[in-house]
Amino acid sequence: MKKVSMLVVLSLVALCAGAETNVLHVSLKELELFKRGPFRDQMIVDAAKVAVQSKDPEAIAIADFVRAHSALGLIHSNSFKLVEDATTNTLFALLPILPEDLADLFRIPVMRSMTNYSGEYMPAYKVAAVRADIHLSPFGQGMLVLHEGKHAYLHLIEHHACRDLDDVDRDEVEVRTFDCRVYQKIGGPAYEQIVARQMDSINQSLAAIHEKIGDVFPESLDYDPAIDSIFGKPASKRDASMRCTGIYVDVIFRLLERAYTGEALAKQKITFIRSAYEPATRTFLK
Ligand SMILES: [Zn+2]
Repeated sequence: MKKVSMLVVLSLVALCAGAETNVLHVSLKELELFKRGPFRDQMIVDAAKVAVQSKDPEAIAIADFVRAHSALGLIHSNSFKLVEDATTNTLFALLPILPEDLADLFRIPVMRSMTNYSGEYMPAYKVAAVRADIHLSPFGQGMLVLHEGKHAYLHLIEHHACRDLDDVDRDEVEVRTFDCRVYQKIGGPAYEQIVARQMDSINQSLAAIHEKIGDVFPESLDYDPAIDSIFGKPASKRDASMRCTGIYVDVIFRLLERAYTGEALAKQKITFIRSAYEPATRTFLK
């Protein structure tokens, strides 16, 4: 019985190998659309829902930009490729990373950072890779897509240079500032109370060790359960940790805004973002 099924599989492989090249291409494309398409579609819907909920005009514009300027991407050889035809030169690939892609993340050098991140926009490839293998709530998924969409917008529409770490970190500060505003608009007064509690707690810790924000950056605070009543239950630990980080960035940015102005403030935000993304180089409060 086993031998018979093996023969069937072998003959199917032989049939595929003998198929004309263009026929095989079409079927691969269809397979990718079938496999990744629903994840991409859901991502666009979740981003739009979060944007509409926030009533923030820029968030709505970014959700619309993602819908109109993205095409489904796939991992091809050691790089990326669009599944769908490009309709505009400001098009980027939205690439949902599926569980079966995880080996590729370790194999392909440009994808390795994705093993740590939930999403990343790669300007050199015009690809926004978003981890679809992580369980996220619709809010978490929507925020993640808006975040990567804003990166794509800065690069493709506002022509931001993405040459070095300074450029990348400056963009990250801008995108995080955008995220914070969406959190604030959705969260309203209840969110402001959480932020105020966290700011107080950090100020007390800093005062206790006679330090100033910017000379040291505190570790993110514990998850405040009140967050769930604003943004809904997180779907996983990673989902909870992502929104916790988002709020933490808002708290630190506000503390920095109280302590610094102008160029010094801009530099402090970049230093903070850089240290948050490279914890080994960071000074933490214990
Ligand atoms: Zn980012």
